[in-house]
Amino acid sequence: MTTITLVQGDITRESVDAIVNAANSSLLGGGGVDGAIHRRGGPAILEDCRRLRAAHYGKGLPTGQAVATTAGELDARWVIHTVGPRFSPQEDRSQLLASCYRESLRVADELGARTVAFPAVSAGIYGWPMDDAARIAVETVRATKTDVEEIRFVLLDERAYEAFAAQVR
Ligand code: ADP
Repeated sequence: MTTITLVQGDITRESVDAIVNAANSSLLGGGGVDGAIHRRGGPAILEDCRRLRAAHYGKGLPTGQAVATTAGELDARWVIHTVGPRFSPQEDRSQLLASCYRESLRVADELGARTVAFPAVSAGIYGWPMDDAARIAVETVRATKTDVEEIRFVLLDERAYEAFAAQVR
């Protein structure tokens, strides 16, 4: 049984097996939640990211995929980096956003993670409307078979929290 829980706050403060990062394809850090994770997690995460880039992702991690590194100094065992799509009014990229959640849970299962914290992937710098991002996130994790016992959405502000709460209710 998988339980979905919601928390309003900073995902880098959560104690879970795996924290999901809304990364960009370079895996070399960025703004938003990505910047916060690297700042609080320390240099070990970036070192791991650099190794992964060199070994497997010369052109970067493709949108919709996910990969794990150490969590450095965060209170977690792993960070799972996933690359959300930029929102486009012209093109429906929902399947790529759904893929971020599915692939992150697949990686979590491979690792044996039982508790996983997700931010609202793509709903910041990448411009996805929050209500739609929340719908895709919740529908996708509900439809994904996983051994993860708790999926915790960690939303930075009240508006994001309410958007997710409306989907979970
Ligand atoms: P993206 O580039 O995928 O849009 P962002 O990091 O810009 O990624 O934003 C994704 C979501 O994460 C946004 O709703 C943003 O407000 C939120 N966010 C930013 N920092 C944090 C944090 N420390 N903890 C949780 N959520 C965060």
